[in-house]
Amino acid sequence: MEAICPIDSRCADEISALLSPPSHLQIQEYYDKLLSKRQCSGITVKQDGKFGKGVYAVKDFKEEELVLKDPMLVGVQHSSNKIDCFVCSFCFRFIGSIEHQIGRRLYLQEIGPSDRHDCDMEIYSDKSGIDSSDGEDNSHMKNEETLEECTSGSSTAKIPLPEGVAESLMNGRLTLPYSKDFSLPPAVPRPGGCEEAHYCSTSCAEADWESSHSLLCTGERSDPGHKEALLKFIKHANETNDIFLLAAKAISSTILRYHKLKANHLEKQLKYDTASLPHHCDLSLLMEAWRPISMGHKRRWWDCIALPDDIDSSDEAAFRSQIRDLAFKSLQLLKTAIFDKELEPLFSLEIYGNIIGMFELNNLDLVVASPVEDYFLFIDDLAHPEKEEAEKITKPILDALGEDYSVCCQGTAFFPLQSCMNHSCSPNAKAFKRDEDRDGQATIIALRSICKGEEITISYIDEELPYEERQASLADYGFRCRCPKCIEEEP
Ligand SMILES: [Zn+2]
Ligand SMILES: [Zn+2]
Ligand SMILES: [Zn+2]
Repeated sequence: MEAICPIDSRCADEISALLSPPSHLQIQEYYDKLLSKRQCSGITVKQDGKFGKGVYAVKDFKEEELVLKDPMLVGVQHSSNKIDCFVCSFCFRFIGSIEHQIGRRLYLQEIGPSDRHDCDMEIYSDKSGIDSSDGEDNSHMKNEETLEECTSGSSTAKIPLPEGVAESLMNGRLTLPYSKDFSLPPAVPRPGGCEEAHYCSTSCAEADWESSHSLLCTGERSDPGHKEALLKFIKHANETNDIFLLAAKAISSTILRYHKLKANHLEKQLKYDTASLPHHCDLSLLMEAWRPISMGHKRRWWDCIALPDDIDSSDEAAFRSQIRDLAFKSLQLLKTAIFDKELEPLFSLEIYGNIIGMFELNNLDLVVASPVEDYFLFIDDLAHPEKEEAEKITKPILDALGEDYSVCCQGTAFFPLQSCMNHSCSPNAKAFKRDEDRDGQATIIALRSICKGEEITISYIDEELPYEERQASLADYGFRCRCPKCIEEEP
């Protein structure tokens, strides 16, 4: 039997208010404000009855011109990627140094998954204990004959570095040639004594704290009970689906915005009305706090998730019921950690399912290129004899890193403006990171010249696929494509 969420019925009215689509006016105000905040003057969001929202050019764009940079509303780095890339937890820029990126990755690979902390968010929690013993002697690293072959993972054998080298790279005692040309912002001290979040700047640390991290921090200064409950929630998400971490951020940010709005409101109101109820949920303030989430197209996760290929359609109902149970389990864990009685509707399964469904329908890859790749390419491009000289040091490191010596920062995120862009199989724009785009923002560039007034479209799928396959892929997004290319190729 399906589990029943008591909040669903208890807060039915509030839930239906939260899930009713915003008015045209609210949508227009929200996106106009967002565009002006982003100083994005080339585009606008327009609504029409047929397809909902769309993004339109209000000026001409040349081929390859930047159309939009879109900071994420919420985003998370994949937990497995945290071993490979050390990035700012708010803007996802690489931080530390080239040496730190490489040393940390080798060190975490060396200690192996069994020794790592249960929770991936804490893999790095004991770095203060690392002894900075020697090992920076480069002659060690040239002595490849004595090195054992590493058999882990990759098909190409990795050749480990002598003991201590990874730590020396990580803690800055060993400097690589030319690495100064690839400097990264240093990690700044973290609020809350937190070990699982790292930042490129104080402004990122503060922004993250204010938007959601103050509720989701598992740092040493958080209450032990709260911390334990949060770690359970995070562990479950890491083992099942990190979309739950995005949902937790969305809920936390709504809670924090609500209390901020309420504090401002009470401050004004108390001057003439002392009879207001401080612990009573103010639905109009909750609606305002919820506004950014209200804008995304939503369906319940278990209703909109695509049926995996290996599941027979006769098992569809059982599959959808399992997905619902999974979400309910995650919600119970989150509720134990951050429940707020005043904002009970936010902890209903109906709301949780719709938030996750919104991410399922609109979530986009978060990718940030690694500076480690640039670094090794630079070394490879050096002229003789500088190249040979540098490679004496860098070659053993490259061998230790193996074939996949540089891994991008990868995760998943919700980009408010990109998610308004409609699909076309012959799009005029695409998501594309240029060399200078080094953080988690979505970057959209023009694929061809775009005229003022034209709708800006991107492709949600591989648009080179044959007609039938394209339509099948797009069915997962819930529509049949009627773009010019599809109309022309329709059998
Ligand atoms: Zn940052
Ligand atoms: Zn924290
Ligand atoms: Zn099409």
